[in-house]
Amino acid sequence: MTARILVVDDILPNLKLLEARLTAEYFDVVTAMSGTEAIPICQQGLCDIVLTDVMMPGMDGFELCRRLKDDPGTAHIPVVIVTALDQPSDRLKGLDAGADDFLTKPVNEIALVARVRSLVRLKAVTDELRTRALTSRDLGIGDPLIQAAADSGLDGKVLVVDDRASSAERIVATLSPHHRVTLEPDPQHALFVSADEAPDLVIVSMDLAGYDGLRICSQLRSLDRTRNISILVLAEQDDSTRVLRALDLGVNDYLVRPVDRNELLARVRTQVRRKRYADRLRETVHASIELAIVDPLTGLHNRRYLDSHFSTMVEEALNRGRPMSAMVLDVDKFKAINDTYGHDAGDDVLREFAQRVRRSVRGVDLVARFGGEEIVVLMPDTPLETARLAAERIRERVQGEPFRIHKGRNSVPVTVSIGVSSVEGLGETPQSLLKRADLALYAAKSGGRNRVIVNAQAA
Ligand code: GH3
Ligand code: MG
Ligand code: MG
Repeated sequence: MTARILVVDDILPNLKLLEARLTAEYFDVVTAMSGTEAIPICQQGLCDIVLTDVMMPGMDGFELCRRLKDDPGTAHIPVVIVTALDQPSDRLKGLDAGADDFLTKPVNEIALVARVRSLVRLKAVTDELRTRALTSRDLGIGDPLIQAAADSGLDGKVLVVDDRASSAERIVATLSPHHRVTLEPDPQHALFVSADEAPDLVIVSMDLAGYDGLRICSQLRSLDRTRNISILVLAEQDDSTRVLRALDLGVNDYLVRPVDRNELLARVRTQVRRKRYADRLRETVHASIELAIVDPLTGLHNRRYLDSHFSTMVEEALNRGRPMSAMVLDVDKFKAINDTYGHDAGDDVLREFAQRVRRSVRGVDLVARFGGEEIVVLMPDTPLETARLAAERIRERVQGEPFRIHKGRNSVPVTVSIGVSSVEGLGETPQSLLKRADLALYAAKSGGRNRVIVNAQAA
């Protein structure tokens, strides 16, 4: 997976060094010698990741990071702060500025490649989600990026899988003041706990007695319920081969023993924040998909969804020589219900109407709110007579029991008229099928309402 990395440093030899190393790993490299030069490159979408030095004249690395994170147009670009000062306070400052990761100079080759690769992979996923989430912002759900940027990365749910008592205790003690930490020395059990309790982050020791820590990592990544959990592994100093394996498996980050307290705190915060960011994006995408195909009042599919499936269903019926029927249902004198009991009561009736219809048909039938108080049902593999019986059943269930309104305090009798039509042969289209159901519905209305009429030609 290749990516374009922007390296920002005011000292040319530093730039050249990082450029050479990254190019050797087949990354595309762009360079800038100041924050001022870097910002437009990011705004124009010319890089996937930013690696920035801290100490630069004018705008320093923290300030650059802050500005990128404050701008919704660039907030999604991961920023790695490269610091010469091995100062814990610098890491915290970096995190507070919104940095996604940090590297310490002199930059260790494995750390550089590992962290850049892991961010590239992460970005590929979030870019996809982000594109879809932006659509949802247009739909008015709110900007997930702005919410995510405000996250502190504290109070995360963290599961520690380590069977060395002293090491585990130290990790738990370090994290506990800031996060909700659970310790689980048994790796098999840890997998169940992860699936049940959905932690934000799992910290896995790679040197468990008689068990390969990498196995839990790969299991976590392969189960649906755990695949989005962040994973950080604890490795021995000389275990770079397995660290690389771990990162290939999709592990998000690693720490080398003996674990530095401040580095642990900083990396856990980063991972918790990243996990929440991705969660938010996923929720937004989900909500926007729902919004696009579901009618909010009744929970039925909306017109748009119906339109996008109608042709396919008709074509399938024709191609396979299978029957297919359609119903158009319209509440009788619905305007009078609104006028007499109020619009909210009308809404209650529509919700209940939708439920009675949904429950009266099969799971494979497509039920959509067509508009106002009209519902359309498409019934694959269903001949006209079967559809007529189904419509009759719905009509009886609507008439059979008054609809509760005003939170159940009152009820109102409701009836429905239904027009039914069936696919008749080559040349049938959604429009022609619906047209005949509509004509039948019209006949039901003019014939006195509360009845089912099937389309005349086929009857
Ligand atoms: P008919 O028996 O001929 O179908 O009479 P009707 O009163 O049901 O027909 P008409 O189409 O004239 O009236 C439909 C009414 O449905 C008009 C509109 O205000 C109301 N309506 C449409 N959408 C909604 C909604 O979401 N909620 C509520 N409460 N009313 C709605
Ligand atoms: Mg009506
Ligand atoms: Mg109507």
